[in-house]
Amino acid sequence: MNKNINILNISKSKINLLDLNRIDLRSFLISLGAKSFTAEQIMKWIYNYYCDDFNKMLNISIRIRNRLHETACIFASKFIEEKVSCDGTIKWITAINNQKIETVYIPEEKRSTLCISSQIGCALKCNFCATGKQGFNRNLTVSEIISQIWRANKILKQKKMKKCITNIVFMGMGEPLLNLKNVISALKIILDKHGFSLSKRRITISTSGVVPGLDKLRISMIDVCLAISLHAPSDCIRDCIMPINKKYNIASILNSALKYLQYSNANRGRITIEYVMLDGINDSNKNAEQLAQLLHYIPSKINLIPWNHFIGASFQCSDINRINIFANILRNKGFTTVIRKNRGEDINAACGQLTGTIINRIKKTLINL
Ligand code: SAH
Ligand code: SF4
Repeated sequence: MNKNINILNISKSKINLLDLNRIDLRSFLISLGAKSFTAEQIMKWIYNYYCDDFNKMLNISIRIRNRLHETACIFASKFIEEKVSCDGTIKWITAINNQKIETVYIPEEKRSTLCISSQIGCALKCNFCATGKQGFNRNLTVSEIISQIWRANKILKQKKMKKCITNIVFMGMGEPLLNLKNVISALKIILDKHGFSLSKRRITISTSGVVPGLDKLRISMIDVCLAISLHAPSDCIRDCIMPINKKYNIASILNSALKYLQYSNANRGRITIEYVMLDGINDSNKNAEQLAQLLHYIPSKINLIPWNHFIGASFQCSDINRINIFANILRNKGFTTVIRKNRGEDINAACGQLTGTIINRIKKTLINL
């Protein structure tokens, strides 16, 4: 049982079942006098039928439903605002105690990806990132992470015209490996066949390289796709744009990523390297050659991300010709290299633009689902 969940103190506050993965839910229900299989039944109600009302769970005995009413709730934080981009991307905002969390839905032809947040703000202060500039506020709880998916899917089901979520990326606000306990518990619910039941090949954790967190993810046997935010071909450049590099340098990150790769099935033998294109900083031909040299022993595919502007930033995005030349150098050296399409830029929903601020010029709709 997760020690954060104060089951002994249930008289004071109710347990939110969205905080519990299957193991935790089972222990909780047994403590209420239920049979262990009740956990699967309740998860089916929550994650298959998007039901948050114990009264409707007619295959659960009245006695246990009454106990649940007394001790527990199913509470998914509501989206208070929706911003729709001209490219179909949707940004949803959740407000919790006056703090805002952002979740981005990216529909494509064959899949629909939800980009979720794991923290409010971020402590790592990468200087090209709007979330980093905002500073760290707090970790999200398991239920706050899970609520983003639960609400999004519920809305998509109700709208009927949109596809439900097929892929999840931890690329919203925050560094997932610095909120590892809650992220692991949430991942268990996302992967669970009685939870969201997503394949490990459709879930991506993106990290700026928190080495102990990555090692712990492997030791905890959590197998999902890994994306490393490398963004520089040398420690010298990385030190300047990502302060975390002074603690965990490139060699230590790649070493830890390689170990994860050896353990993982989800990644099908190669990790994703993310590389944001910053004009005059990391985008020269020499930098591309250095990157190829650095990654020569790492089975990887490279995502070049055009840098997204935000107010107050002192960077420029490399121009598209430069990005193409950079990509071709890598391709000629045998690396699968993709230039990422920016989605949702008009609603500040693109990578690194998430700050929880509300921009009025954007089409916005108050929703109450
Ligand atoms: N903290 C994690 C995940 C969230 S950031 C990480 O750093 O990996 C998701 C991705 O967006 C990362 O690759 C990050 O480096 C990138 N990013 C941050 N700011 C950006 C910006 N302004 N433009 C483009 N990509 C950005
Ligand atoms: Fe944090 Fe990732 Fe932004 Fe760096 S890029 S400040 S780790 S959210």
